[in-house]
Amino acid sequence: MMKARKQTRSINLGGIQVGAGAPISIQSMCTTRTADIEATVGQVRRLAAAGCEIIRVSVLDKDDAEALSEIKKLGCLPLVADIHFDYRLALTSIAQGIDCLRINPGNIGDKDRIKAVVEAAAEKGIPIRIGVNGGSLEDSIVEKYGTASPEGMLESAMRHVRILEDLDFHDIKVSLKASDPLTTIEANRLFSNQSDIPLHLGVTEAGPLVSGAVRSSAALAILLSEGIGDTLRISLSADPVEEVRAARTLLSSLGLRKAGVRVVSCPTCGRCQVSNMFEIAERVEARLAGISADLTVAVMGCAVNGPGEARDADIAAVCGKNSGLIYVLGKKVKTVPQDEIEDALLEKVQELIKT
Ligand code: SF4
Repeated sequence: MMKARKQTRSINLGGIQVGAGAPISIQSMCTTRTADIEATVGQVRRLAAAGCEIIRVSVLDKDDAEALSEIKKLGCLPLVADIHFDYRLALTSIAQGIDCLRINPGNIGDKDRIKAVVEAAAEKGIPIRIGVNGGSLEDSIVEKYGTASPEGMLESAMRHVRILEDLDFHDIKVSLKASDPLTTIEANRLFSNQSDIPLHLGVTEAGPLVSGAVRSSAALAILLSEGIGDTLRISLSADPVEEVRAARTLLSSLGLRKAGVRVVSCPTCGRCQVSNMFEIAERVEARLAGISADLTVAVMGCAVNGPGEARDADIAAVCGKNSGLIYVLGKKVKTVPQDEIEDALLEKVQELIKT
């Protein structure tokens, strides 16, 4: 059973409401060099088309920071600037019009510098995300707990939160990520028990596509089922578009978002009538990514069991020998040559969306 969502405080991130029961938003991070405006904007647009709602970029130097206003203007998604220590980069990024700053105030150093960043963020109404990573905890915490424990991650997060709240800054989002899913689960549970600050969920350094998506989903599904989490990222060593596809699938599987078209496909067996069934299903899913309609589309490998197995789908393609049958709302509407199955399926999806 899914528990009710925890009532966290509400923050506004470039027009997206985060917390207080708002839909759980999907985030990703650009893999491009931020100063390369063309490449970064191109990636942001691809991610937006796939269903990404908030995008984070690394700001390593002045060139990156000074590219942000152009990326924000052309990239069409709320923009989070990720800065590690340099308060000047934070100030430049804020002046460039970013929507959120990811910085740990305890890492900035001098109190006047922290104050300057916090005041600039407050003036522009920009939230600050504190990101606690199990692999880079403060030395004093590692010494105290001996390892990157959930309790140590909680203490680190609370130290940074206190710095902001002592300056009367409350537009905060927190993430507590470890590469170990169980540590991530426990750290987020502990934080959620103590604070109403919205949580951004993720498992860090989760791994390549399949193992990373499974490891992330194992942790995030448990937290989400307990009502914990307001935004999420599924970090993968893969094209970030795959992160967005995985996040959408996770949220729709748990009934937390109607995250677009669900593609279901059979695993194939000896009855399968096409040699490239897996590629067809992959391509159909990729072509339907970003369509927000709440539809189920099925791709089945044979006409023996396919029609029955596709009964619950809104639109289905059932592969036969050299041909494919197209079904809409359970009724066979068309027979097409095998190489036209994908286009015919997509055409019917568009028709159904318009009705
Ligand atoms: Fe096998 Fe046909 Fe079922 Fe696919 S739909 S698993 S090919 S029986």
